Amino acid sequence: MQDKPNPAQALAAPEGSVLTLDDGLGFVALVDRMGSDAALKVVNAARISYQKKKGELDEADQKLARFLWLHGHTSPYRHSFFTFHWKAPLFVFRQAFKYQVGSTWREYEADGESISLAAFDVLFDTDKGCSWNEISGRYVQWQPEFYLPACMRANPPHGNKQASVDLPADFDHAGERERMRAECEQAFRLYRERLERGVAKELARILLPQNVYTQAYWTVSLQGVIHFLAQRLKPDAQFEIRRYAEGVHQLLAPELARLGLTREMLVGYV
Ligand SMILES: Cc1cc2nc3c(=O)[nH]c(=O)nc-3n(C[C@H](O)[C@H](O)[C@H](O)COP(=O)(O)OP(=O)(O)OC[C@H]3O[C@@H](n4cnc5c(N)ncnc54)[C@H](O)[C@@H]3O)c2cc1C
Repeated sequence: MQDKPNPAQALAAPEGSVLTLDDGLGFVALVDRMGSDAALKVVNAARISYQKKKGELDEADQKLARFLWLHGHTSPYRHSFFTFHWKAPLFVFRQAFKYQVGSTWREYEADGESISLAAFDVLFDTDKGCSWNEISGRYVQWQPEFYLPACMRANPPHGNKQASVDLPADFDHAGERERMRAECEQAFRLYRERLERGVAKELARILLPQNVYTQAYWTVSLQGVIHFLAQRLKPDAQFEIRRYAEGVHQLLAPELARLGLTREMLVGYV
């Protein structure tokens, strides 16, 4: 069976993308943001308490922005939004999709009607929810794009499951990688054969491995994205999602610098 073109691959990496996993496939890009100055908005949102507004950010504002973040006064950080485009393996998205709060948009279905979270917020005073939207494996046929680590890792001897250490150089890294590749290709062959027998994509996909690449949009407030960075830049975050956090951090560097928030302050926050 001829592969139909897959929109997952047709979507090229946007300009300004940061490559993440050193295989030329994974990336993160900042594709949209609010036009206003996010850092200035933080301090103006805070200063409205005193009926004050400034047109230019200065050192005193940076001090205020820093103070607000480090003391957990985070609501002024919820007025600016950023949209990121990720291409990542499924297992990375499983971790990324955990970030649900501080994002902009979610739709619920109630009595067969679609209802937006904005309406939900009014009714139930909830935080604005998740705004992850990803390619659907129900509609799109997957292409064999898999993440294969160059360097294999082991759990450390002390048994902390939230960390891993590189296996030594004399471990057969290349051999393990090739075994992984063969297993992925086998899974993909079985997937395609199942499609050819007429099974729906939504079922045929269920045997695909967790390292298959997919893509998603993430719209998130400044607070939500800094919270993500605070957790996922840390060494106890899995290496692969840490690479995405590094990418997001790089894309947000100008904002963070204007807010006076250093990397050490971020990772020290949680
Ligand atoms: C190293 C590491 C290991 C992890 N291991 C696991 C694991 O084994 N299994 C697993 O399922 N998850 C795991 N997670 C995910 C973790 O439990 C969180 O789901 C994830 O980090 C998202 O964090 P969050 O809930 O703070 O984020 P968000 O959903 O973005 O929430 C942001 C903040 O909003 C507030 N908030 C969110 N929800 C509520 C609420 N209902 N009520 C009040 N305040 C709220 C909290 O202050 C929260 O910190 C792990 C995360 C890390 C960093």
